[in-house]
Amino acid sequence: MELTDEQAAIRDAVREFAVEEIRPTEPAADRAQTFPESVWDGLAELDLTGLTTPVEYGGFDADRLTYSVVNEAVAYGGLSVATALSVHCLATSCIAQFGSDEQKDRWLPEMAATGRPVGAFALSEPHAGSNPAEMSTVARRDGDEYVLDGQKQWITNGERSGVVIVFARTDPDDPGSITQFLVPKETEGLSVGEKESKLGLRASDTTPLTFDGVRIPAENRLTEEGRGLAAALSILTGGRIGIASQAVGLAQAALDEAIEYAGEREQFDRPIGEFQTIRHKIADMQTNVQASRLLTRDAAAREDRGEDPTMAASMAKYFASEAAVDVCNEAVQIHGGYGYVTEFDVERFYRDAKITTIYEGTSEIQKKVIARELLGEP
Ligand SMILES: Cc1cc2nc3c(=O)[nH]c(=O)nc-3n(C[C@H](O)[C@H](O)[C@H](O)COP(=O)(O)OP(=O)(O)OC[C@H]3O[C@@H](n4cnc5c(N)ncnc54)[C@H](O)[C@@H]3O)c2cc1C
Repeated sequence: MELTDEQAAIRDAVREFAVEEIRPTEPAADRAQTFPESVWDGLAELDLTGLTTPVEYGGFDADRLTYSVVNEAVAYGGLSVATALSVHCLATSCIAQFGSDEQKDRWLPEMAATGRPVGAFALSEPHAGSNPAEMSTVARRDGDEYVLDGQKQWITNGERSGVVIVFARTDPDDPGSITQFLVPKETEGLSVGEKESKLGLRASDTTPLTFDGVRIPAENRLTEEGRGLAAALSILTGGRIGIASQAVGLAQAALDEAIEYAGEREQFDRPIGEFQTIRHKIADMQTNVQASRLLTRDAAAREDRGEDPTMAASMAKYFASEAAVDVCNEAVQIHGGYGYVTEFDVERFYRDAKITTIYEGTSEIQKKVIARELLGEP
């Protein structure tokens, strides 16, 4: 789990970018619910939009520990940006792992070098979240094409994206027929619904996507028919390590703000950081952040060693996300009334933290996975 000198240098460079370029854009982006596109270009200049893309397609081809360190550092600046980046990386990973040589040549170099087209990953549906096998989007084979009909829900980068990885059943009655497709956003019949108005993560666009007779060439199928769900779940195991890393970065940011405020704010003629209750809160927060980081890096290191990271990834995602909610809550408490207003970043951190316990598998689903690894299926 020790970082190499190179990994530490990458972390420091990304952290600097996060503090100087991402964090200052977040309050306005949060208020306006718009993504800070100039930050995206900056991420591309740092090669981060090609983080998981193979070197031969111009990417960084990061191992999972490096991926984790980068996600933590980006989220230290802002969770909305970190989320958009990690979803883009899910899309590029799908193309890199499952795409044909032609598809990789067509999409990956630009997606890595410029971050455009932005990628999206469309698995969830209005009636299929924790159990994606219940999805009803259908891809019907018609000669050399597939025709997609259905609706996807909660799609990050839904509006900004130019290419969408879509999961659909090739047989409407068979949940075992789920297959993965690549759909260029401009394809006729694909429409973007209204942006969700969210509690937090407001700079990241989340939209429904509707597929109404969307015709794509058969070669845009990324997996064999019926192999899509397994592909999604394997990609999401790495994704969960990314979300855990983001929870660590966000919690660290909240802790740092709380420490600074505890040293500055005076009541009863003393800095509040001299009161034992505040000191104990800070101690608990630090312990939670470091425990989250160690669990997360352990999961990443296991994947890098070639071990099955499933249980470790779920433990990291479950623990780090719940810890981030607790840490951000305490950061608000330490700020008192000032923690409840938008002038201070901890207000936004508190709203942002909650999503880490929900997307890419809720905490309940992570516990289901951990228990299944230990006890088998009930
Ligand atoms: C901001 C945001 C961004 C997102 N981005 C994307 C994206 O880019 N792509 C994408 O495909 N999806 C995305 N999602 C969807 C997200 O992954 C789902 O919301 C999540 O998986 C939960 O599904 P659900 O909302 O349908 O909740 P449900 O599955 O309906 O769950 C409701 C509750 O029941 C619990 N529950 C469900 N099943 C069980 C069980 N077996 N045991 C115990 N408890 C259970 C859940 O834990 C939860 O508490 C995003 C969601 C949000 C809010």
